[in-house]
Amino acid sequence: MLVLLKKGVSETGASDIAGRLRMLGLSVHRTDHAGQIRLGAVGDGVPVQWDKVREWAGVEAVRPIPVPFKLVSRAFHPHDTLISVGRCTIGSPQLALMAGPCAVESEAQVFTVAAAVARAGATVLRGGAYKPRTSPYSFQGLGEEGLKLLRRAADAHGLAVVSEVLDSALVPQVARYADILQVGARNMQNFALLHEVAHAGKPVLLKRGLASTIEEWLMSAEHVLSQGNAQVILCERGIRTFETYTRNTLDLNAIPVVKELSHLPVIVDPSHGTGIRNKVAPMARAAIAAGADGLIIEVHHDPDHALSDGPQSLYPQQYQELVDQIRTIAGVVGRRV
Ligand code: PEP
Ligand code: MN
Repeated sequence: MLVLLKKGVSETGASDIAGRLRMLGLSVHRTDHAGQIRLGAVGDGVPVQWDKVREWAGVEAVRPIPVPFKLVSRAFHPHDTLISVGRCTIGSPQLALMAGPCAVESEAQVFTVAAAVARAGATVLRGGAYKPRTSPYSFQGLGEEGLKLLRRAADAHGLAVVSEVLDSALVPQVARYADILQVGARNMQNFALLHEVAHAGKPVLLKRGLASTIEEWLMSAEHVLSQGNAQVILCERGIRTFETYTRNTLDLNAIPVVKELSHLPVIVDPSHGTGIRNKVAPMARAAIAAGADGLIIEVHHDPDHALSDGPQSLYPQQYQELVDQIRTIAGVVGRRV
């Protein structure tokens, strides 16, 4: 339920109301919008006499939130969530440009790619140190050594860091080096991991599962918000369909759908969304035209020898050209690079 407080209610009045709702067994989350305090009171199966709550001093109205993802919904939180990371504010008119290798492979590799993406205009360096690979015989990532290299390369170029956390036990370690914790497509419904990353107190990049509906994806975001961390960046990265000419089917519908349903920023990963180098730029341009808040793109200076996802990685020069095109498209849709 959404409990709207009267304008001008004091802070003590508001916390009294929140306290009384908690006493009923609900968990209470607050957001302020247009000079009004809004309390999201959630808890399945908790019997509450809402007619009575409506009469409490300081309460203006009580309304149901008509979707299962309560805290993630615009009904609860009408204005866009902004997430500040390093030099960029994700969800603001300035697009969030995240780029880097699929996996951190070596010092030379990550420093070369970091320099190139920073020069092109990216503000966040991506790179996996723990990789979710289909084959156990494929490169699994450099682990903590990779995180150290990624952090040093990012710092050398004024970039923030996003890196994937594969396992709950690794959250403290990844959080020591990364500014944004990535939950990968394969882990979108690993609820224990979602709770653990929420508690790390850092922004979470939540990729859409390979076969997940938008509602399931938003419910996974709800897991993070329900744990008190509202800094979630949604990432559309393509879904599994019957199509075989591309690695995945990049669902650009998700952008306007999510924008209407939720206040959370949504970015697009056209690298995994297509799996094919020369399809990345067209879909990146389309994503920005469709209203995405940013892009996460794989870039490698020597993709033929990349240890993962070389065929979908852009050369640094291609990334530079893409950012220049994105700058033009951004202007048309009221955004900037
Ligand atoms: C990645 O970003 O390298 C990755 C593994 O992504 P996803 O979880 O979307 O497959
Ligand atoms: Mn990859």
